[in-house]
Amino acid sequence: MEENKEAIREFYATCAFPKEGKKKKKKKKQNGWKGKAHRRCRYTGRTCAERHELFYGSGKHQISIDLGFQVDLCPPIHRLFHGIVGKADLEALNVPGMFPDPKKWAAKEVEELRQGCQESWEAKQTELGITPEEARARWIELIGRSYL
Ligand SMILES: [Zn+2]
Repeated sequence: MEENKEAIREFYATCAFPKEGKKKKKKKKQNGWKGKAHRRCRYTGRTCAERHELFYGSGKHQISIDLGFQVDLCPPIHRLFHGIVGKADLEALNVPGMFPDPKKWAAKEVEELRQGCQESWEAKQTELGITPEEARARWIELIGRSYL
């Protein structure tokens, strides 16, 4: 018995694989920048879009990545979503409704995208068997407020 224990210990000491059940440090997910070349902007259809996380602040950026609360945007629109208005670049995109006030347009889009995230997340939760009220409470716990 004791011999056996020793053999197991030695096995794990030299084994290249981590011991079963031993907690591996959880690797943070990246936001998927590697697939960038094929990614298309939601508004222009242009490729090489950048992935934008829809919730941020106090851990919510990582939650956005883990749960896919993201939108793909071409660089000028991505900058706009971060509050930077490159007027000439944005005008050239000809996105309906963006002008005369691109920031206002972006704010409305973000609101709708967040609502969509909440709707589908809550729907998934209720499919798993909890009530809509519980799903709402869990969403608020997760993100901090309801968008619906
Ligand atoms: Zn972003």
